[in-house]
Amino acid sequence: MYIGIDLGGTNIAVGLVTDEGKLVTKASLPTLAGRDYKEIVSDMAKLCNMVTAESNVNMDEVKAIGIGSPGSIDSKNGIVVFAGNLALDKAPVAEELGKYFDIPVHMENDANAAAYGEYIACGIDSDSFVFITLGTGVGGGIIINKKIYSGFNGIGAEIGHMTLKMDGEKCNCGNYGCYEKYASVTALIEQTGKAIEENPDSIMNDWVKENGHISGRTAFECAKRGDAAATEVRDNYIRYVAEGIVSVVNIFQPELVVIGGGISKEGDVILKPLKDFVNNREFNKDMPKTDIRIAQLFNDAGIIGAAMAAKNVDK
Ligand SMILES: [Zn+2]
Repeated sequence: MYIGIDLGGTNIAVGLVTDEGKLVTKASLPTLAGRDYKEIVSDMAKLCNMVTAESNVNMDEVKAIGIGSPGSIDSKNGIVVFAGNLALDKAPVAEELGKYFDIPVHMENDANAAAYGEYIACGIDSDSFVFITLGTGVGGGIIINKKIYSGFNGIGAEIGHMTLKMDGEKCNCGNYGCYEKYASVTALIEQTGKAIEENPDSIMNDWVKENGHISGRTAFECAKRGDAAATEVRDNYIRYVAEGIVSVVNIFQPELVVIGGGISKEGDVILKPLKDFVNNREFNKDMPKTDIRIAQLFNDAGIIGAAMAAKNVDK
């Protein structure tokens, strides 16, 4: 057994995970961001005890604990170097949790942990794998030779911040035209809002009235009903997502690219045009092609990935 911890801005989610990467039980507590790291780690320990007790597993049956944390992570030393609004800068989180349990504690960036989780769930047969999650931003991770690739300094892989458009929209990272400014759900909502303003006859206006607000589903659902403006928003958005994937495929030629985030639940509506576009535009014409699939774990990817990264850290 292993334990995976997904440290988020809102919740600390902890799960007991089998050796094969199956989630057995999970529990969570609010992060209450801004607290001293020792208080946060104390809650992590509490949750570790809760999930093992709930499954009648003794803590000494757990071989290692993995933590996925936002921000810049020094995996080797188990330190959160910088984590923005979590206020955990330079916190030795792994060492602190090690004071509660006499087992190895391993830490990864949360996006890399989620990528590793999806890799375990749907890519384990491939040596190279890229995970792209379309959410508030665009996150992701790269697995090369079955290991998380995070660059020489641990900051990689920020797929959401590759440049899609020179001098494009300003990004929180300080650069302009980043992929996530076009391919995130936040961007899709903005694109939808603009189309609604420009097309007062679009049924998207009625959809928003019925549902109270614009969401990532607005354009997709109205396009299914044949609305022209919605179809244009949807197709444009898929095109943005696809353009980034073409670059990723051209650079890495991974065996598998997996798309996650709520919008990927649209399934074939998003997957089929994505595949067609990437197939037509990518550099490789004659060799075996990268497969593109939809994620399987969604919210549990971070917990499972953190646990499995802790299991495989020395392999
Ligand atoms: Zn950026």
